[in-house]
Amino acid sequence: MAFRNVAIIGLGLLGSSLGLAVRKHLPDVHTTGFDADPAVREKARELGLCHAIADDPAAAVRSADLVVLCVPVGAMRAAATAIAPGLAPDAVISDVGSSKQRVAHALAETLPDHTIIPAHPVAGTEQSGPEAGFASLFEKRWCIITPPDGVDASKLEALGDFWRRLGSTVEIMDAEHHDMVLAVTSHIPHLIAYTIVGTASDLEDVTRSEVIKYSAGGFRDFTRIAASDPTMWRDVFLHNKDAVLEMMDRFLGDLGAMRDAIEAADGDAMFDLFSRTRAIRRGILEQGQDDARPDFGREHS
Ligand code: NAP
Repeated sequence: MAFRNVAIIGLGLLGSSLGLAVRKHLPDVHTTGFDADPAVREKARELGLCHAIADDPAAAVRSADLVVLCVPVGAMRAAATAIAPGLAPDAVISDVGSSKQRVAHALAETLPDHTIIPAHPVAGTEQSGPEAGFASLFEKRWCIITPPDGVDASKLEALGDFWRRLGSTVEIMDAEHHDMVLAVTSHIPHLIAYTIVGTASDLEDVTRSEVIKYSAGGFRDFTRIAASDPTMWRDVFLHNKDAVLEMMDRFLGDLGAMRDAIEAADGDAMFDLFSRTRAIRRGILEQGQDDARPDFGREHS
């Protein structure tokens, strides 16, 4: 293991999970955490999320050979600026942000003399904050690394090794491609969930209590996603604007086609689409990316 001292900046869901995962899988690695919120730092000490919690960002990274920024993507530049005075010259700076091109740009601009290797563990829940973290979050999940051109190969390999030891499968991808893929697999689904839950809560002729009462008809599965952290998701849409708009136009076109099929009573078009989408679900289950039991394994007793 190339890294002996890891600094974790931002101790919410991702940062706290990272601290706990390192404790579990890499017991010889020392972690130092920092969060901008003093109450979060206090909670992190209480929960033992890292070996040490610093009250100052530069002090948190002083002996780190790997720094992982776990803040919302809109806060990456500020977090990088704050750690800059404490960074060792050969430290690797990485992150866990959900969008990659703009984060990479912001980090490269802020820390031009350092090795920056952005990454995105495709693992999370709708929870946020330091108490939401758990050590197994990254196990059997993908971690996409989006290295810049000309990156030091040994440092890239070390970062991949770090994530693999936490239980992830590592994929190397171009940042632009990452942003397009994640727009369709994560960002648009979140936008749809936020919108449909908003639409339902704004309806006038269906009461809010009816929406909640009959939510098992499908609505409640959207509410899990729509309960995700507002700051994090606002920043994702601001930072992955181009890819999201491109995928959104595709989606709106397909939604329009479904509207036409319903209006024209074109059952074949509907049946064809619904059969293809079922196959996608089967593929996700075959790759162990979700609970295969009916209704996500919920208790029905
Ligand atoms: P979170 O639970 O809200 O935690 C973020 C923490 O960072 C908060 O405690 C926040 O404090 C703190 N923070 C904000 N600005 C900071 C700064 N400049 N310096 C130090 N700390 C700062 O968010 P999260 O879910 O862990 O997400 C963190 C990152 O992971 C985001 O970039 C997100 O895109 C990415 N990600 C999230 C998921 C997911 O499912 N949640 C999955 C994969 C990747 P305040 O609350 O006081 O601002």
